[in-house]
Amino acid sequence: MGWKCLNCGNNRLFIERNLVDSLIYQDENSNVKRVVNKYIKNGMQGVSCRICNSNNIKRIEAEKQPDDFLYTQKDFVSPGHSIKTIVFELTNKCDANCVYCPKYGVNELDYNQISRLIVENNELDNPVRHFELGWDMGNPLLHSRINDIIGILREDQVNILTNGKNFMRNIEGIEFGRNHSFTFFLDHPDKELNDHLMGEGVYRGTLQAFKWLKDSGFQFRIYMRLSSENCDQIKDMVSLTKGWGTHVVPTEIYPLGEAKTKHLMSDGQKRKAIGDIERLNLNKSIHFSPTLLCHDCTYQRKLRLVIDASGNLSFCHFLTSIPDAKIVEIGDKHILELIKINYNVRKGFLENKASFFDDWIKPRKTSSPCSYCLHSFGIKERY
Ligand code: SF4
Repeated sequence: MGWKCLNCGNNRLFIERNLVDSLIYQDENSNVKRVVNKYIKNGMQGVSCRICNSNNIKRIEAEKQPDDFLYTQKDFVSPGHSIKTIVFELTNKCDANCVYCPKYGVNELDYNQISRLIVENNELDNPVRHFELGWDMGNPLLHSRINDIIGILREDQVNILTNGKNFMRNIEGIEFGRNHSFTFFLDHPDKELNDHLMGEGVYRGTLQAFKWLKDSGFQFRIYMRLSSENCDQIKDMVSLTKGWGTHVVPTEIYPLGEAKTKHLMSDGQKRKAIGDIERLNLNKSIHFSPTLLCHDCTYQRKLRLVIDASGNLSFCHFLTSIPDAKIVEIGDKHILELIKINYNVRKGFLENKASFFDDWIKPRKTSSPCSYCLHSFGIKERY
């Protein structure tokens, strides 16, 4: 897109007037502390020629420049965002003890930062209404302010990723919203073998949790993290969970932290697991998309924002244990600023991917698009 002046022929310099809302933040004495300009969707008021001031301007379809180019430039007031989901890792504390857990430490995302971002989100023209709490690195139900966090998200769609070990105790006193749902990590259909992978008491607690959730009418699903020790158990896991009104979503462990090479699936094991997933008609996550197709996940498609438990905007919820995957400290950055940084990082990543992907020597035939990310963040394992 671009412009041409039909009065003087100028095609280089224009003034475009856009409608902009400014959010004004003040202290209690009315001193202005911060101003955030916010672009309004379809907010263009007009265009004039900078040379002759004429308003007789024609729109030109410039080749190779998408319509949203202007809004993605760093000096423009702000991008019209496409974020659909915000992920808060919440905490690295965990009551399970998974043998391949990549995380360590007990960091906890500051409640004030969470509530500030949620308030700013609610002020946007197109606020995000879907949240995920948790992910691989910790149990969000152990955040010291979980009750308050659930309270401020009560009207939103929230998915809580947790384990069942102490679920009934962890939810005591919490009033979940009608659009809240749960995802449980459960890695083996056999009690002993599951607890060997995830820690004593997880299996029993998880089945108790399923009963409570079913009786209470909450939606839930199961993430089964495939490794060399359970990749042949998908069918039995599906049988175990039948009748609970839930479904199994297989994912794959990453070569991070405690996940030693012996835990990773071989090429042959993974190929067989992919066959089982197809036969059972299960949700085919990004981990089981062939690398050669160069798929882009929801992060790459700029649909997600993840904040880790240390207060950083991070690249992906699977990668928060990798120091280089931290994009920026959130500090007091406004949510629109974070969205914009997130957008630009992914734009740069995808530009590189477009030039490097074909030359990347795939570590194995069943590598997934996530393998390319790990490779990009310096992970050496053949994954
Ligand atoms: S590791 Fe990369 S490809 Fe995989 S989900 Fe994360 S951002 Fe997407």
